[in-house]
Amino acid sequence: ASSSAATATVASKGVENLVIIGSGPAGYTAAIYAARANLKPLVFEGYQVGGVPGGQLMTTTEVENFPGFPDGISGPDLMDKMRRQAERWGAELFQEDVESIDVRTSPFTIKSSEREVKCHSLIVATGATAKRLGLPREEEFWSRGISACAICDGASPLFKGQVLAVVGGGDTATEEALYLTKYARQVHLLVRRNQLRASRAMQDRVFNNPNLTVHFNTEAVDVISNSKNQMSGILLKRLDTGEESVLEVRGLFYGIGHTPNSQLLEGQVELDNSGYIIVEEGARTSVKGVFAAGDVQDHEWRQAVTAAGSGCVAALSVERYLVTND
Ligand code: FAD
Repeated sequence: ASSSAATATVASKGVENLVIIGSGPAGYTAAIYAARANLKPLVFEGYQVGGVPGGQLMTTTEVENFPGFPDGISGPDLMDKMRRQAERWGAELFQEDVESIDVRTSPFTIKSSEREVKCHSLIVATGATAKRLGLPREEEFWSRGISACAICDGASPLFKGQVLAVVGGGDTATEEALYLTKYARQVHLLVRRNQLRASRAMQDRVFNNPNLTVHFNTEAVDVISNSKNQMSGILLKRLDTGEESVLEVRGLFYGIGHTPNSQLLEGQVELDNSGYIIVEEGARTSVKGVFAAGDVQDHEWRQAVTAAGSGCVAALSVERYLVTND
């Protein structure tokens, strides 16, 4: 980033101050802050999730834990409000997927199917995708019985007081299962192996919880529904004996991890072993001028409000970077 970043707020000809990639809470929040700082950000919104901008929350119904909405708000409504707020302050939005990124030389080059843009700074807010099992009826029951987020959905009327199952044997699954025991009548943890991969402390908590039953050597095969087409159970298979059985549950939570959408930066910025972008304070990545926010750099909290918070930090950091080059 040896170019004249200090003069970037008056934009060198043909080089943008800031490109933001992603239209989840992180991308839009970064866009709001950057636009209000008069950086005239360009936002590539993408359409990877469901063919529309807005990110993961476009796939959910009620969001009950985003501050400012005491009665809850639907995911798509929340994202529409963020989008309009970014537009109102002058962010320029393109509904296009970015196809390549080059941050090896500054100014950086961002290419979508429609255009090529050069920029002094970049915020990557491309999110993460919850891994799925690929059950035959998974699509049909996604958000209607199947969830990938216990903190988001555990207390919803659909699941409260019900018998639930969680798939996975690592820290994520055990944490989700323990969290769900606060609301559910009973929780079953379905583990493919014959042991948990979670930490010893986590395992102790699991085995000491009377509302939690662990099924080893067990995989979920498909969803079973009742006459109202609600989830009424899951077909299970024992991997050691091949035996199949039905477990009566009203909800199935996936705790098998997420894939961060960082593939375009592989080999250019530092990623951890799971592909998450490594950031330092101020949302800085290993490349000067490249910042990351939201789920693409967060394997732990993964909430809309934390994504929005990190988008804010990234935009404020960019503002400082463009002035001080630091
Ligand atoms: P995302 O929301 O994942 O958005 C990433 C964006 O990047 C998308 O717009 C995508 O199209 C875009 N993108 C990716 N690649 C490219 C590319 N190459 N070019 C251009 N654009 C690209 N959190 C809560 O706090 N409360 C809830 O109630 C809640 N419910 C949830 C329900 C479900 C079903 C799911 C899946 C998640 C839920 N979450 C909830 C978690 C929350 O949605 C995420 O933590 C949050 O959306 C992360 O925001 P983000 O901005 O990092 O990324």
